[in-house]
Amino acid sequence: MLVFRKPIEGVERPQMPADVVIVGGGPAGMACALRLTQLIEAHNAAHPDSQLSKENIYVLEKAPVGCAARSAVDARVAPGI
Ligand SMILES: Cc1cc2nc3c(=O)[nH]c(=O)nc-3n(C[C@H](O)[C@H](O)[C@H](O)COP(=O)(O)OP(=O)(O)OC[C@H]3O[C@@H](n4cnc5c(N)ncnc54)[C@H](O)[C@@H]3O)c2cc1C
Repeated sequence: MLVFRKPIEGVERPQMPADVVIVGGGPAGMACALRLTQLIEAHNAAHPDSQLSKENIYVLEKAPVGCAARSAVDARVAPGI
């Protein structure tokens, strides 16, 4: 079941423009970001007059350390990493 919080009135939340938001900085999320970047670079090389930007692609990671599998950063599984 999905529960959506009611927005609190009078509270301003920070906003950021984004073209792509990838949720999760595990191998799948990082591979997705890398591949998307490669495709944009290939597009820009082939179409110099219609460039795409890589600036607004974000990877959101809830864990303190991203860019790695959860098992690799979970101190209970891999102490010291
Ligand atoms: C104990 C263990 C050992 C393993 N050993 C190996 C191995 O030796 N070799 C191998 O190839 N594979 C191994 N694996 C499997 C490997 O870890 C997974 O296949 C791989 O991590 C899956 O990648 P993923 O990106 O799909 O998911 P995940 O690695 O789980 O990444 C998902 C990420 O999304 C984040 N996330 C989740 N929800 C949110 C949210 N709401 N907002 C923001 N971020 C969020 C999580 O914090 C996590 O970092 C192992 C797995 C385990 C459990």
